[in-house]
Amino acid sequence: MTSEDFKKSHTLLAQYPYRWAPIDKGYNNRSIYINVGDRVIREKVVTGEMKEKFIGGKGFDLRLLWNATKPDTKWNDPENEIVISGGPCCGITQYSGSGKAICCTISPQTDIVVDSNVGGFFGPFLKFCGFDALEIQGKSDREILILFEEEREIIEIYEASDLPSDSHVLAEQLHDIFANPGNEKDKYNVSVVSAGTAADHSLIGMLNFSFYDIKRKKVRLKQAGRGGIGSVLRDKKIKAIVAHVKTIGGNRNNVVNLEAIQERGRRFNKEMRELDDKQCEMRSKGTAHLTHIMNDYDLLPVHNFKFGSHPDAYKIRGDVWKSYFTQNVPDGCWVGCNMACAKGVDNYELRTGPYKGDKVIVDGPEYETTSSLGSIAGIFNPDFTIEANFYCDTYGICTISWGTILGFVMECFENGILNEERTGGLNLNFGNADAAMDLLHQVSRGEGFGLIAGQGVRKMKKIFSEKGWGELSFMQDIGMENKGLEYSQYVSKESLAQQGGYAMTNKGPQHDEAWLIFMDMVNNQIPTFEKKAEALHYFPMFRTWFGLAGFCKLPWNDVEPEDNAQTSEPAKVPEHVDNYVTIFNAVTGANIDKQGIIRQSERVYNFQRIFNIRRGYGLRKHDAQPYRACGPVTKEEYESRAERYDKQLIEQVGFDPAGKSTEEKMKVLRQYRENRYEQLLDAVYERRGWTRNGVPKIEHLKALGMDLPELIEVVAPLQ
Ligand code: SF4
Repeated sequence: MTSEDFKKSHTLLAQYPYRWAPIDKGYNNRSIYINVGDRVIREKVVTGEMKEKFIGGKGFDLRLLWNATKPDTKWNDPENEIVISGGPCCGITQYSGSGKAICCTISPQTDIVVDSNVGGFFGPFLKFCGFDALEIQGKSDREILILFEEEREIIEIYEASDLPSDSHVLAEQLHDIFANPGNEKDKYNVSVVSAGTAADHSLIGMLNFSFYDIKRKKVRLKQAGRGGIGSVLRDKKIKAIVAHVKTIGGNRNNVVNLEAIQERGRRFNKEMRELDDKQCEMRSKGTAHLTHIMNDYDLLPVHNFKFGSHPDAYKIRGDVWKSYFTQNVPDGCWVGCNMACAKGVDNYELRTGPYKGDKVIVDGPEYETTSSLGSIAGIFNPDFTIEANFYCDTYGICTISWGTILGFVMECFENGILNEERTGGLNLNFGNADAAMDLLHQVSRGEGFGLIAGQGVRKMKKIFSEKGWGELSFMQDIGMENKGLEYSQYVSKESLAQQGGYAMTNKGPQHDEAWLIFMDMVNNQIPTFEKKAEALHYFPMFRTWFGLAGFCKLPWNDVEPEDNAQTSEPAKVPEHVDNYVTIFNAVTGANIDKQGIIRQSERVYNFQRIFNIRRGYGLRKHDAQPYRACGPVTKEEYESRAERYDKQLIEQVGFDPAGKSTEEKMKVLRQYRENRYEQLLDAVYERRGWTRNGVPKIEHLKALGMDLPELIEVVAPLQ
């Protein structure tokens, strides 16, 4: 079917012609609003003030979402929005990792804003079509497809009830349909946003952003995984959003100083060629190179984060994944990425589910998935991980959330909170790969215990407790969620700073805000509360900036310049920070320095915190962590590392463990660790300019230039 055939055979529900104009220094200076309920489409001006205070990407998303929603808007209310924005540097092709977009919504899991970053081509294509952000509001009464066509300067909405839902089938079909007829290469100019059948039946639905892999001649998918944005897409009855651009071209952002960007790009590419094989092997193993490193440092989640390593972890080490990944193909998820970590398993024959027997391309697994669909469930079988990775992607659910759910469910099963009667016959002991796969397929069909598991850990704790199946306090301790979002895949017990890096996040425990385990636990570079607080100020702010400007974080520090260790602050990778300052200025014509990056992020970070407060969250109590993230919950857990914990009791707590029962020792250790976490909160809040209750102080907002009346109104009663 061609595009013309599609248009003839599908009812056109709305049409919005617009006047295309070239991007000016990274900005279109307008966003687009689409209401899929009443099918109103209109443009909004992006003002100078919006650019100055919110930059782009997540900043634009938050600003638009704040304006569109009320403090009590629920995730499935019509006024909730999905907002997508790439940022001013999104879409350049001369520096690695410059195609990321951020998606935001009121999350079905957390009831606060969730932001999720994603590769693939849709973020840049939205800009090329003429818009700095896309807002989708309302709820459609029928299945629809939204189409952006740059050539025709038009946005259209079509009825699309006959289209499939699962992303690998849908995206491939839509690349075929909307590419210019008979022009295989034009598939490169199409990108599709979609979710999948499991997003219909769960709260952990995610978005897939497609791109056409021109070497493989296959459509591939990258994910905005966290917080259930795909569930919101499906709740709005959107099957797909398609963008078709004229060309990708060399300087579509019309930057101020292309040569400066090219120079930094060449420098970085040289580092990749010379250093990647010695440092991270991103180009051959992707982030999956981390799996055995995490196991070696006792940081790999095993059995629902009970342990950090396992004797069978060698079965899922980095070189095992390398043997599955197709080598020597340029695996960038946006044009020009030399880090090329978007590895894939080609021609993988599925053994289960509705696509059994099909040979497919599986995107990943990335590090997170080798744990979440593997070690966390006690499954050390790459074939399980690859197949579950494929199905999570095509069904449209987040591999991280699903894995942490699986770990929780399995620990509940082993403790008698669940049994075969309660799971509808599934024997969900740790290590049972067949049952784990059955459960995943149940979510996609909206059946059985899969419907409960798809609600996420927080809601399961409540359900199990209300049914009288188990002690809520125990489930609170082992349920690895904070703010309603499941933890991503690092054991944080021995790194106090990482505990803060997880539980003090705005959206919930995802490692994109702060990853401090090596600085803190391995290298002991931030031993005091003051130093930890400084790190928990600087790194979340710095990392936030990638999502404002449109960059991928990985090229910042996954490969470092050869002389980086000799710099005064190696953890910050100063040369790469300078690259970003230079590129931002070269795209936009601004004149920021490295402090300017932090300042830009601080404005948006505090805005997001206040957004949470406006919704009844965002206070100290919401930064509490489950004890499993902080220390050993069970006797088995303590005794597995008794030597370490006993030593800490002597050296750090001043308590002699000799002759004491495990229970006594666990109690003392818990008091000590929980107390230290509270002290950390105090130190970090102070450093961030917040009250002891975690509320941004008015004088701090003034200093940032973020004393907007609507923000002051929220925080003033809480000062
Ligand atoms: S480093 Fe990896 S995730 Fe980042 S843009 Fe490149 S390929 Fe994509």
